[in-house]
Amino acid sequence: MSGDLLSRYPPGGGAPRGRAARATAGETGGRARRPDDQPVPILMYHAVARSPAAATRALSVTPDAFAGQMAMVTAYGCTPLTTAQLAARWRTGRPLPPRPVLITFDDGYEGVYRHALPVLAELALPATVFVTTGWLRGRHEAGGAPDRMLDWGQVRELAAAGVEIGGHSHTHPQLDQLAPGRLATELAYCRELVGAELGTAPTSFAYPFGYSDRRVRQAVRAAGYAQSLAVGNVPARRAQGPYALRRVTVRRSTGPELFGRLLECRALTRAYAPDRALTRGYAVVRRTRQARRKVLRTRG
Ligand SMILES: [Zn+2]
Repeated sequence: MSGDLLSRYPPGGGAPRGRAARATAGETGGRARRPDDQPVPILMYHAVARSPAAATRALSVTPDAFAGQMAMVTAYGCTPLTTAQLAARWRTGRPLPPRPVLITFDDGYEGVYRHALPVLAELALPATVFVTTGWLRGRHEAGGAPDRMLDWGQVRELAAAGVEIGGHSHTHPQLDQLAPGRLATELAYCRELVGAELGTAPTSFAYPFGYSDRRVRQAVRAAGYAQSLAVGNVPARRAQGPYALRRVTVRRSTGPELFGRLLECRALTRAYAPDRALTRGYAVVRRTRQARRKVLRTRG
């Protein structure tokens, strides 16, 4: 099928012309960049904790580091958006705000409520939390959580504070390895539970392990999600399409200098070269159908 709805935004949402285009250039600090080309850093966080579990430590950040990073977001003049807001702007062709950035959290660790939310609320920064519904504490718990997770009351408080709640599957499997029925259930059940608990079904999704293939992207779309995030350690761009927007990993070793470069979409190639090698290796493993071994347990 040539009209691949998964790989691009629908027509009509293209670059504004004339006055709108000039306004956009003004908003991006005078750089003559078409909105289509504007890179947007989508920051991917996991746990925010002083003493995370061993399994989540490398991809966690300390509460102090997180507070410092959010202070940088503000100091750099960045404008955080939720995932749904960015996708909507790219879908309709509306210009982006100055220095757009997305702050996202995967899995649903309790520290997001305990440590991140007060900072986000204080600075009025929108964010998105992608929850693995079967990992959340309480009545839908399916076991297997790698660390202390949110409960549904905390998820509701996050949502009430303006944090977008997105889906991240029910049990965090490697989605591309699932039979069609199980794949559909993982996506639909997650969406159903969030909808039932919050009163609003999620429209955004993030792939467990940051990885998807075409079949998974189609299933995510069929389940009712309007956009989905991957991991690529490059900035997101409109041309990536709504179901393959890339994110950059923020981890315990990410210092202020690298974080500043993330915000400015600068020189990420060297900093993330090891990640890219791993991602490529991972793809090869999958292609040869040996992916049952959890090669990159900590990704995504
Ligand atoms: Zn995850």
